[in-house]
Amino acid sequence: MYINRKLNESLTTFKSLHFGSYNRPKSSHRYKVTVGIGGNVGDVKRRFEHLFTFFKKDKRVELLQTSLILKNPPFGFMDQDDFLNSIIVLQVSMQPIAFLDYLHRVEKKFARKRSFANAPRTLDLDIIFFDNRFIKTDRLIIPHASWFERQSVVIPLMDINK
Ligand code: AMP
Repeated sequence: MYINRKLNESLTTFKSLHFGSYNRPKSSHRYKVTVGIGGNVGDVKRRFEHLFTFFKKDKRVELLQTSLILKNPPFGFMDQDDFLNSIIVLQVSMQPIAFLDYLHRVEKKFARKRSFANAPRTLDLDIIFFDNRFIKTDRLIIPHASWFERQSVVIPLMDINK
C-alpha cells in the first residue's frame, strides 16, 4: 500500500510502511552511510521492498532509515521510463571500498545489467555520503560527485532530514 503525492507534473512521491520509515539503531556498526537507490525497469517498487528486506536480514549492515520513493523523469538518455529513487541510511563496519564492492554484489543479486551510461537499469546503488569522509579515487568519489544537482537525490534527502 502506497500513499501517493503529486509534487508537480513530473514528480510524484510514494510513502509505504517501509519507505519513509525510521528505526532506532541497535548494532555496534561504526559508520553511517547514505545510499541512493534507483531503477526504472520492471516492478521497481517491489524490488525496493525486497532490497529493504534483504538489508534488514543482513547482519553486515543495519538499516536505520528510508526516505519516501520519488518518481522522476530520466536524464541523459531520455527515451526510457521514469525512474524511482529513494535513500536508505545504513550503519556498517566495512571500509568504503569494501562497502562499494558489497553494493555491487547486491546490485548483481538483484540482476542489474550494465550496458551504457544513463541506460535503463533494474537497480542502481550509489554511496551518497560515507560518515564524514571525503574520498577522491578512480573507483570512488565521496560525497557522490553530483548528488546536489540531482532531484532524484536531493528530494529524498530532504525527506530523510525533515
Ligand atoms: P554507476 O554506473 O552509476 O553505478 O557507476 C559506476 C561506477 O562509479 C562504479 O563502478 C564506481 O567505481 C564509481 N563510483 C564513484 N563514486 C561512487 C559512489 N559514490 N558510489 C557508487 N559508485 C561510485
